[in-house]
Amino acid sequence: MTVLKQPEVQQQIKQAIFVAKALFDRNKVSGSSANFSFRAGDAVVISASGCSLGAMTEDNFTVIDLEGTVLEGPKPSKEAPLHLAFYRKDPKIGAVLHTHSFYSVLWSCLKHQNEADVVPKYTPYLEMKLGRVGLIPYAPPGSAELFKLAGERIHTAAGFLLAHHGPVVPGRNIMDAFNILEELEESCRIAWYCKDHPEISLIP
Ligand SMILES: [Zn+2]
Repeated sequence: MTVLKQPEVQQQIKQAIFVAKALFDRNKVSGSSANFSFRAGDAVVISASGCSLGAMTEDNFTVIDLEGTVLEGPKPSKEAPLHLAFYRKDPKIGAVLHTHSFYSVLWSCLKHQNEADVVPKYTPYLEMKLGRVGLIPYAPPGSAELFKLAGERIHTAAGFLLAHHGPVVPGRNIMDAFNILEELEESCRIAWYCKDHPEISLIP
């Protein structure tokens, strides 16, 4: 049986399609500006290059190994090396999501004093669900330079904002990563609002 036809892989693909549509329908992503992956044994299943998030099907997924070689399916997302950096870092990471969600992008465009911890703690939930979020400095999307920077910083935080680009987070599985991504986007929305309201305090 091919990896893509395995029942547990089909189940995760269904969840990824659900997540893509949920993000798309609620305006958290647009066009093809997100990519999803999850672990399948020694391999990784990842969304294909350029698929429209509002209308993904099971044909929009491809199987790669941890070096990025395609084992099965269409051309993978060009951000695949970013996902692989997480899987190589920690065997407990089961899924990775990357989007261009609005408030996370805005927050990624600010100057941050401590690039290992860029999201202020007005509520405890992001830290509880994920841990610290770091910044990966700007390099063009899909570039070798971006993947080099990601590799250098991957061990400095649990999730990341790619500067001038968007969030990338790990999870135990697709739904867990989705919940974490939503928490990060909400935390950035709160932080964006609070930056002009110095009377609002951080967690003591
Ligand atoms: Zn991107």
